[in-house]
Amino acid sequence: MPRIPIVAGNWKMNTDAGTARALVEGIRAAGASDARGVEKVLCPPFVYLPLVAEVARNSTLMVGAQDLHWEEKGAFTGEVSATMLKDYATHVIIGHSERRQYFGETDESVNKKLRAALDHGLTPIVCVGETGDQRNAGKMQDVLRGQVRGALSDITLPQSAIIAYEPVWAIGTGVAATADDANDAIAFIRGEVAALQGNATAQAVRILYGGSVTPANIAELVGQPEIDGGLVGGASLVAESFAQMVQAIAS
Ligand code: PEP
Repeated sequence: MPRIPIVAGNWKMNTDAGTARALVEGIRAAGASDARGVEKVLCPPFVYLPLVAEVARNSTLMVGAQDLHWEEKGAFTGEVSATMLKDYATHVIIGHSERRQYFGETDESVNKKLRAALDHGLTPIVCVGETGDQRNAGKMQDVLRGQVRGALSDITLPQSAIIAYEPVWAIGTGVAATADDANDAIAFIRGEVAALQGNATAQAVRILYGGSVTPANIAELVGQPEIDGGLVGGASLVAESFAQMVQAIAS
């Protein structure tokens, strides 16, 4: 079964109600919703999930959250649970490097969040990736292995799950990994998934590349055999460029 490619936009802490609405409307007007053979996911800040879900209604655009808490409800001030997200989102990003770097996320919390997402039928986009120092020290594979094993510990991954390889040194820097390097890293991650979850799951799971993806480089990246799409930050905040990335890899 061929893996259907995905363009997922991580809006991070950007937009307001007006620009969030305009962005989704612009993406629709630019024809991204009509593109075939590619899945499109928009991940706005929590507070704009209802708005984005409403503006995306009756389109092929799907909606994702940028994080979740593993508990269902309770005294966890400021947190948002999978049950709450389910009303507006089908996907959820887990373990983005910014959450690991600035908010103390660990492989253990990623594992709990992944379990909560799966228990509630949300499609996870689990992020892994090495820093520049780790890469320069020759530790890329050790880091990726540790993050994948930590995330998937005691979990049976469904074939619909998504992983994103996001080398930290490439995020927001304008310097993307080369297509060859990204392909090699993703092949390594797929091998780890195969070792843990079996070959059928490893061959079905989509593994995206993220880190300075733009309309100019997405076709070459997704043209690699192991790369199943892009998790995109900056370039997903401009409607035309999001639509161009979708068109670039549409069938
Ligand atoms: C990201 O937010 O996950 C990301 C990859 O950002 P950018 O595309 O801006 O590098």
